[in-house]
Amino acid sequence: MSDVRSVAVLGATGSIGGSTLNVIDRHPERFRVAALTAGRRADALDRLAVCWNPDYVVLAGVEDLPTGRQWGGDWRYGSEEMRLAAADPAIPIVVNALVGFAGLESTLAALGAGKRLALANKESLVVGGHLVLEAAAAGGGELIPVDSEHSAILQCLGGRPTAEVHRVILTASGGPFRDWPADRFASIRPEDALAHPTWSMGDKITVDSATLANKALEVIEAHLLFGLDFDRIDVVVHPGSIVHSMVEFRDGSTVSQLGHPTMEVPIQYALSAPERLPNEFRSFDPVDAGPLEFERLRREDFPMFELGVAAGRSGGTAPAVYNAANEVAVRAFLEGRLKFQAIATLVETVMSSMPQTPVESLQHLVRVDAEARSRSRESLGTQSATRGDRTP
Ligand code: NAD
Ligand code: MG
Repeated sequence: MSDVRSVAVLGATGSIGGSTLNVIDRHPERFRVAALTAGRRADALDRLAVCWNPDYVVLAGVEDLPTGRQWGGDWRYGSEEMRLAAADPAIPIVVNALVGFAGLESTLAALGAGKRLALANKESLVVGGHLVLEAAAAGGGELIPVDSEHSAILQCLGGRPTAEVHRVILTASGGPFRDWPADRFASIRPEDALAHPTWSMGDKITVDSATLANKALEVIEAHLLFGLDFDRIDVVVHPGSIVHSMVEFRDGSTVSQLGHPTMEVPIQYALSAPERLPNEFRSFDPVDAGPLEFERLRREDFPMFELGVAAGRSGGTAPAVYNAANEVAVRAFLEGRLKFQAIATLVETVMSSMPQTPVESLQHLVRVDAEARSRSRESLGTQSATRGDRTP
């Protein structure tokens, strides 16, 4: 029997999508590309399809055939086709590298169909919460994190039960504004926020790393993945991004996972775990690496962190509201319609206008997401009109 397992790469034209294809390229004896999906970039998807010749591709944000394409294979269109690809019984592994709430249906579909889901799209887990965990339990799906911190924790845990864990310590690079004085934040432009010191990533997560919203999403992600109370999840700033996280066990031993920052290692692990496959990456040399530095998180200067953790602690629909408002605010910031510091103001306004309720169903979350987006756009209109929040 062949050991080659088929993989669907959702969000293939993005940063994690591209890194996933590099991993698969290195291990043709283990993985093959069965389906590729993208949002709107037909030309980029076309080039990938020519290169990989998958069984089919899905252009999720488009309802019709793009003109001038090179690849003559099976093109499918629309988000329903993307959901079907996530649930395709012929494909045992799904990599969800979509951005934001848009990834939720695919996460639920893949887990409900009993797949191994290599999950980069943390927003879907954070927003879906117990709905996602229940889909995995009901469908027999396996949820393996791609996020480097959570991959590290999974590896450090080594299968030991949560009861043996005293706490986990997530590391954070601190983002581009780690050492900026808070009084300079008013001058932050999109290009400053997009200049991440250690990771090269898509725009949305890069801004989330600058506001520390990403770290709040990761705290909630750790809470859900590993069943840990929020009080047992700490965050420490580690600018070098070498130590990917740590687990402190109840006997006082702290175990960490280290490596040079590349997402290809956690992606590869998510595809092959618990087996470890070889690769040619530079190995970690403790002498060359120099000192490993750690700092406390400047919670008081990055309110998106506390707001996100508070949403996680509230539970129910609160993370969905936080996430939706953040998605709208980040887009507005990148388009020069909102100041960096006004991201948190907008998110806080929307969160306080929508008290959390228990999540009933996917349809319920879709309604909450839409309502939070609509209130965010309203608030954005008010802010721009009254405060002249337009970045030059
Ligand atoms: P990206 O913007 O580079 O790529 C996103 C991909 O998703 C693209 O292929 C795009 O076409 C597709 N897409 C976006 N919106 C869509 C929609 N509505 N419908 C269908 N397709 C859509 O993003 P990225 O940096 O690769 O991040 C992907 C996910 O992985 C995010 O959730 C991010 O938080 C997470 N993540 C990324 C990194 C990283 O290093 N980039 C690290 C950890 C976690
Ligand atoms: Mg991460």
